[in-house]
Amino acid sequence: MPDQRFKLECRICGTTFPDDHPKHECPEGHPLTLTWRQEPPRFAGPQAAPGKGALWAYDYYLPDFAPGAVVSLGEGGTPWVDITAAAIGGVKSGAGAGADAAAASNGPKCLAKVEFLAPTGSFKDRGAATMVSRMKEIGISQAVEDSSGNAGAAVAAYCGAAGIQCDIFVPASASAGKLVQVERYGSHLVRVPGSREDTTQAALAAAAGTYYASHNRHPYFLVGMKTYAYELYASLGDKVTDLLFPTGGGSLLLGAFYGYRDLVDAGHLARVPRLWAIQTQSCAPLAEAWARGLNEPVPIEKRPTAAEGIAVAAPPRGAEILLALRESGGGALTVGEEEIMDGYRTLGRSGLYAETTTGTVLAGFRRLAADGRLGRDAVAVIPLTGSGLKASG
Ligand SMILES: *Cc1c(COP(=O)(O)O)cnc(C)c1O
Ligand SMILES: [Zn+2]
Repeated sequence: MPDQRFKLECRICGTTFPDDHPKHECPEGHPLTLTWRQEPPRFAGPQAAPGKGALWAYDYYLPDFAPGAVVSLGEGGTPWVDITAAAIGGVKSGAGAGADAAAASNGPKCLAKVEFLAPTGSFKDRGAATMVSRMKEIGISQAVEDSSGNAGAAVAAYCGAAGIQCDIFVPASASAGKLVQVERYGSHLVRVPGSREDTTQAALAAAAGTYYASHNRHPYFLVGMKTYAYELYASLGDKVTDLLFPTGGGSLLLGAFYGYRDLVDAGHLARVPRLWAIQTQSCAPLAEAWARGLNEPVPIEKRPTAAEGIAVAAPPRGAEILLALRESGGGALTVGEEEIMDGYRTLGRSGLYAETTTGTVLAGFRRLAADGRLGRDAVAVIPLTGSGLKASG
């Protein structure tokens, strides 16, 4: 049964479809987004969700799922910690190291939401929980997904729990730790030689005969990401001014945008926080487009990077991401491989063992703080997107 409160919308062409439309793309090939047909209800804070992860405490903001369809492994409800002192310690302000402590108390705040405390070790569980619940609801028994690692692990785990047989296509070069994890969840691993894009092409070809459970395209994956915004609002209210994301396919960035937009539309906030997409110089189709004022991601030649979780050369939702950045008043920027490693090491010394990709967003905070785009009163939230444990395998 479709949930009449929602529609599927192409944010680029403006075309809309009923929420049970079988395709995940508009005729132009843009991935669709689940949006409200009506004003969202008032935000009611976290509600009891017995036996389910904390994500489901906001189920009144999510589409209805048939009784028994929800697949939960304890996702959502991640804490945030204030890492301002460690983050500012790396800001080159020219004032000298002695000024660090003063800067930390006077300058922008850096709050880290510890998203790697998720069932499979990354924030991708938010989207996998809602996408696979939907798949279970509509009776899918077989699916394919393609991923460089964390999304594959998340989709494998939830499909396993739902009894859905899943093939996960991965680049032959992905981290060994993540591949072991996919197999442990009972999914079939398909190693594809060549680039990340070759992996997607192989999955798309296989999907023609089955169901494509794509974390970059499926609207029900994006919808779970909205809970990132609801959780921040529940604990920080209107204090958050800026949201930074290590951005590949942009699922967390877009989910957070739509989640915050719900809160604005329901009358709780005056505006969505500014969104910043942080990319590595080695793979920056969005930041390049932003710098040139374009509406579509720029075709790029990807170089090797320590930030493998964001090495997406052609993000399917690229145009939608650029639109969200513009609507929020934020932007996109790149950081170098050295800065990424530096950010990664800073997090480690702060007791936070995240995967190297996460160093990107700390580096992005430092850039924005150093060049004054994050003002003294800014409260920025960065997600620690993936666990260091599996990436070291
Ligand atoms: C997937 C992933 C990202 C990028 O998220 P998108 O939603 O694709 O932009 C960042 N960090 C880690 C660890 C990831 O697994
Ligand atoms: Zn379209």
